[in-house]
Amino acid sequence: MSTLRRIDRPSPNHGPRAEGARVELLILHYTGMPTAAHALERLCDPAAQVSAHYTVDEDGTVYAHVPEDRRAWHAGRSSWHGAGDVNSRSIGVEIVNPGHEFGYRPFPPVQMAAVAELCLGIVERHGIAPADVLGHSDVAPARKEDPGELFDWQGLAAQGLGIWPAPAQAGSQPDDGPSSGTEIAALLGRYGYDPAEPRSLLAFQRHFQPDSLTGTADAETVRRLRALLRQTGR
Ligand SMILES: [Zn+2]
Repeated sequence: MSTLRRIDRPSPNHGPRAEGARVELLILHYTGMPTAAHALERLCDPAAQVSAHYTVDEDGTVYAHVPEDRRAWHAGRSSWHGAGDVNSRSIGVEIVNPGHEFGYRPFPPVQMAAVAELCLGIVERHGIAPADVLGHSDVAPARKEDPGELFDWQGLAAQGLGIWPAPAQAGSQPDDGPSSGTEIAALLGRYGYDPAEPRSLLAFQRHFQPDSLTGTADAETVRRLRALLRQTGR
């Protein structure tokens, strides 16, 4: 039985999904505004032209804005595996945090527990693959940093939500490399990132190597990328 505290806070900012579009991605965001109240107001303001299906507050309260069968307006100009109109193909969840602009801070455990419960229901309802649970920065690396390096992707993956690169096996040979920039871009593209966007590498680190936000691939970056490709068969 659900333990989520859920409050309906409808937003007028939605439309029909593109014809034939299937929900195959779950996109996680942070709100990036000074307070939850600011964010909720904006997500429901017709003039703002933005929305998400849900917002999860820092105390774990879930606000429902847009029905899941409708196209919410959260991803903007973005792509994954070369396909755009991410909004038509996704569910969008906003997670309250001031973000890098207004004082980025850790996501409280009670908030993360609510995110996990909400999102496990979403991926089950729509048959979303674990590797297709993504951050906004994954699908819009040139423009976005959310939900950012403090977001506990590894903890979510341990609960079956999203995916995390398997650790290097003791005694195993390191992967070939480090690879050339061109080769790394190709691997990023195979995983789903925009290979032509230089900041795709930083977006990858923000998600999968958050203790090393260098924007430059080191041996561990390449190892994790190759591990994920193996784990997903991409
Ligand atoms: Zn976002």
